[in-house]
Amino acid sequence: MLQTVSAFGRLGEENAFAVLARATTLASEGRDIVNLGIGQPDFKTPAHIVEAAIKALRDGHHGYTPATGLLATREAVVRRTLTTTGVEVSPENVMILPGGKPTMFASIIMFGEPGVDILYPDPGFPIYRSMIEFTGANPVPVPIREENGFAFSAEETLALITPRTRLLILNSPANPTGGVTPPEEISKLVKGLEAHPNVAILSDEIYDVMTYDGGRHCSLLSFPEIRDRLIVLNGWSKTWAMTGWRMGWSIWPNGPQSANLYDKVRKLAVNCWSCVNAPSQYAGIAAIDGPQGEVNNMMSAFDHRRKVVVEGLNSLNGVSCIAPKGAFYAFPNVSATGWKAKKLAGALLETSGVALIGGPDFGILGEGYLRLSYANSEENILRAIDRIAAFLDENSPSG
Ligand code: PLP
Repeated sequence: MLQTVSAFGRLGEENAFAVLARATTLASEGRDIVNLGIGQPDFKTPAHIVEAAIKALRDGHHGYTPATGLLATREAVVRRTLTTTGVEVSPENVMILPGGKPTMFASIIMFGEPGVDILYPDPGFPIYRSMIEFTGANPVPVPIREENGFAFSAEETLALITPRTRLLILNSPANPTGGVTPPEEISKLVKGLEAHPNVAILSDEIYDVMTYDGGRHCSLLSFPEIRDRLIVLNGWSKTWAMTGWRMGWSIWPNGPQSANLYDKVRKLAVNCWSCVNAPSQYAGIAAIDGPQGEVNNMMSAFDHRRKVVVEGLNSLNGVSCIAPKGAFYAFPNVSATGWKAKKLAGALLETSGVALIGGPDFGILGEGYLRLSYANSEENILRAIDRIAAFLDENSPSG
């Protein structure tokens, strides 16, 4: 009998991929499926970005690049960070990785081990908890509440910090709730963190430009007082519709006063993926420096669909949905339907051909909610709402 390390028994999953697989199987059997399950833009990567990758290949950029990423790509990230946050970082702080997730992986394994606590949002992106458990650290959920507009509460977060806490994971704009935490609340949190100088912060800002209703993203980079213990996760996947390119970046403190975090992530890259493929890094530069018209159009489309989905959901019996302020997810409360969320999600896929995700796939506090991605056409969103309405009318929770 083969034996692998026990940590793999604690590694979780992202159920959105399982739902996508099931939806694809049903579609291949001839079922008409509306997929609001997976979190990726339904737009294509803008053509000038694709062209930059093709040109890079034609120009002979076929070899390894530095483990931290091409200097030109890191410099592009420096420019982009200045534009979006007003903060000047150095290319020596920027790491290019194959997607947003590897930054999660790297930072959680750097801080997690048995006997320490890591705080993470619940409901939140499922990989946070999965990776925390993988390391043997104790996962401590920070409640993200509907009554708080799905923003995190500084007070509640700070109250969970103990001498065992090593890492605090934050995410705004957030998956799966669409919550955006206001700048005042983030300032309050940073102020409170002064009393906990040994706690590192991983701020997942991958949806940074996706905010609505005048809500503005506040980057943790805006607070110089925590820069020496702050890791900021970001990437190309969502903003430029590049999920399949596997292109992410993160900003790390660099130097011995910050436990050499940047050098540690560089070494991890050398040991694991060596570097990100060269043509994608050239595409990444074109994405940042090129025209942003298509990104803006995509954002306007998301904003419009957001209104459509929220209105549709609020018209359903037993369903209420606050307007999400960011990302491209709606997180309706379905507890008044009497259905358990995962059972409802499963039944909607099998019976009505609507793929969406049950809230419990994002944490214990996700019970009573569903996640719908509105990165889909208005027509499909309306079809999904009609089907959910018919399903709820025709089926009782016990049936
Ligand atoms: N962080 C959050 C909050 C996400 O929702 C996602 C993807 O869904 C990621 C990170 C991972 O992004 P990537 O596909 O670039 O690894």
